[in-house]
Amino acid sequence: MAKAKVATTSLCGCFGCHMSLLDIDERILELIELVDFDRSPINDFKEIQGPVDIGLIEGGCANEENVKVLQEFRRHCKVLISVGDCAINGGIPAMRNMVPLAECYEEAFLKGPTVVNPSGKVPDDEEIPLLLDKVYPAHEVVKMDYHLPGCPPSADTLWAALTALLTGKPVDLPYELVKYD
Ligand code: SF4
Repeated sequence: MAKAKVATTSLCGCFGCHMSLLDIDERILELIELVDFDRSPINDFKEIQGPVDIGLIEGGCANEENVKVLQEFRRHCKVLISVGDCAINGGIPAMRNMVPLAECYEEAFLKGPTVVNPSGKVPDDEEIPLLLDKVYPAHEVVKMDYHLPGCPPSADTLWAALTALLTGKPVDLPYELVKYD
């Protein structure tokens, strides 16, 4: 029987949610028996190929590239999961939402106390993805099927959700696995 396909990516996240996935420890051997990975830092594929059974999204959308990658995941993944508080509500990066974008640029590249920028210009190379006006949670950009809260969600939470989906069971996690405190 063909294995299920899983893809993962980090948008505007810190990779802590991916580290939590690695924290499933020896269960990773079981996971490898159950799934093949499409795009993921695990194999360093740069593009999602699809079709994919389960996509895991870490981080919200802070720039145009994040939006493109998230839309590609939505197109290719049957089930898409917001993993962690950054994907679910923007997390720490969304603290910039309280400040106008122009002021963020000014602080980061021109007037911040540690800035050294003799050019006096904000970098505008076309290779640099354009920042969005604010950081958006993933579900405000595409439809998400599940949310796994936490910063990061624990390895047990990720394992329980993945194994439920892979075995066709409802993702009905106990309170201990989705609590915030
Ligand atoms: S939710 Fe926490 S661990 Fe996950 S990407 Fe955001 S800051 Fe990192």
